[in-house]
Amino acid sequence: MSLAYKLDHAETRADAHIPSKLLLIDGRHVASASGRTFKSINPATEEVIATVAEAGEADVNRAVAAARRAFEGRWRTMRAAERGHILLRLADLMTRHADEIARLESLDAGKPIAGVLRQDLPAAIDTLTYYAGWADKILGEVVPTRDDALTYTMREPVGVVAAIVPWNFPLMIGMWKLAPALACGCTVVMKPAELTSLSALRIGELALEAGLPTGVLNIVPGPGRVVGDALVNHPDVDMVTFTGSPGVGRGIMRGAAGSFKRVSLELGGKSANVIFDDADLVAATRAAASGIFFNAGQVCSAGSRVLVQEKVYDEVVERLTQRARSLRMGDLSDRATSLGPVISEKQMNSILDYVDIGQKEGATLVTGGQRVGERGYFISPAVFANVEHEMRISQEEIFGPVVSVIKFKDEDDAIRIANGTAFSLAAGAWSKDIGRLQRFAKRAKAGTVWLNTYGYTNVRLPWGGSGDSGLGREHGTAALEHFTEPKAVWLNLNG
Ligand code: NAD
Repeated sequence: MSLAYKLDHAETRADAHIPSKLLLIDGRHVASASGRTFKSINPATEEVIATVAEAGEADVNRAVAAARRAFEGRWRTMRAAERGHILLRLADLMTRHADEIARLESLDAGKPIAGVLRQDLPAAIDTLTYYAGWADKILGEVVPTRDDALTYTMREPVGVVAAIVPWNFPLMIGMWKLAPALACGCTVVMKPAELTSLSALRIGELALEAGLPTGVLNIVPGPGRVVGDALVNHPDVDMVTFTGSPGVGRGIMRGAAGSFKRVSLELGGKSANVIFDDADLVAATRAAASGIFFNAGQVCSAGSRVLVQEKVYDEVVERLTQRARSLRMGDLSDRATSLGPVISEKQMNSILDYVDIGQKEGATLVTGGQRVGERGYFISPAVFANVEHEMRISQEEIFGPVVSVIKFKDEDDAIRIANGTAFSLAAGAWSKDIGRLQRFAKRAKAGTVWLNTYGYTNVRLPWGGSGDSGLGREHGTAALEHFTEPKAVWLNLNG
C-alpha cells in the first residue's frame, strides 16, 4: 500500500533513460551476431523510440551457454540468503528508478502512466521482494519410511529457464517468471516480446548493478519464430515458461516434447463477468467496465463477456455504455488518461475486424469500435449488446477494448454460458446472495474467481488456467514447485 502510494506520487521525467538497446549475454551488452536491429515504436504516436539489437539463433546459443555456465557456477551454490539479498537489491534499484522505468514501459507498451504506476511497476517490485523472501525458505522434508534409514527430500533448481514474455504487461509478467526462477537458483534466458523489449533490457542493466553474477540473466529480444523457437528447441534449456497466445503455446508444448522440457503455459482467456439481478449495479458495472477496458482490453483475464440477468439487462447495457463513453483517451503521460492505444497496427486491425464480425453476426454495436485519430493505434471502447453465446465475438479472444453483453435467465443458464468456451482463466460474479456466489465459485471453470469484485491479481495467489488458458500455475508456492525438481535421499543408518 505504502509502495503504491509512493509510486503514485513519483514524477515522470521527459528525459527517460533509453536503455543500451543491445542484447544482454553473459553480463555484457552486445550486438547481435548478425548485426541486425529492429525498431521499437510508441503505439500512441507511431514514433520510433529505440533501435534494438535483434537476436538470432547464434545469439540464443551464446546466451544458453552463458546461462548454463552460470548455473553450474556460483549461482546455485551460493548461500540461498545471498541470492535473496541480490534480488532485494534489484527491487531497491527498481524502486529508486521507478519514474524512469514506468515512463519507459508507458512509451514502449502504449500504457497510460497512471496505470503503470498503480499496477505494473508496484506489482513487479512486489513480485521480486516476495520471491527474494522465499530464496532461503525452499525446504525439503524428512519423511519417515523405516527405522534403519534417514529419508528426506530436497528441492533443486530445474536449471536453465527460457522465459518468453508477451507485450501486454512486459515488466510485470516478465517479473512473474524471472523472480521465482532466480530465487530457486535457476538461470534465465529471457525473450521479451519484440514489440516491448525496453523495460526488460533496463531491468537487465539494474540486475548487474545489483550484483547478479554474469550469465545468470541473459536477455535476447527478437522475433518469436526465430528466438522463441531456438530457445524451445535448444537441448540445453531445461524449462520454458511462456505467457502468450494459445496457438504459440501449443507449438511450444510440441517443441518442448523433443527433449522433455518442463513447460508452464499462461495463455488466453474469454472470461465471463456475471451480473445477477440482485447485484449492486453501480459497483458491478463500474468494475465490469474497468474489467474490460483496463489496458485497452489487452489483458488475458479481461472480462470480455459480461453476462447479465434478463431483468437488469437494459440497465447494465446503458450503464456500461455511459462508462465506456466517459473514459479519457490520449496523452499517456497525463495522469488523467485512463485508456491508451492498442499495441500495434496489426492488433488494431484485428480488433476492428472483430467489430465488423460482431455486426455481421447480428449483435448490436451500441458504442465505440472505431479508430480514433490518424496517428497512434487508438480504438474507442466498444459495447456490443444482444450478443448470442455462439457468436464468434463471444467465443474468441479479441484482446482489445470490446465487450460482449449477453443475456441469461437463471443461475444454471449463467454457468452454462460462463463455462461454455475453450478457456478457463478467470470468472466473476455479482450478487447480494452469498450462497449463490459460493455456488458460482464452485461451478465456474476458472483458475481465479472474483466475487463482487473483478480483476485483482496478487503474486501470493496461484494464477493460471487450463484448456486454452494454459497449463500449470504461476505465483505463490506453485511457482517454486515449477522451478525446482524434488529429489529423494536415502541414508542407511546401519553403517
Ligand atoms: P504471442 O503468443 O504472439 O507472443 C508471446 C511471446 O511469444 C512473444 O515474446 C513472442 O515473440 C513469442 N513467440 C511468438 N511466436 C513464437 C514461437 N513460434 N515460439 C516461441 N515463442 C514465440 O502472444 P502476444 O500476442 O504477445 O500476447 C497476447 C496473448 O497472450 C493473448 O492470447 C493473451 O491472452 C495471452 N496472455 C496470457 C496471460 C496469462 O497470464 N494467461 C497474460 C498475458 C497475455
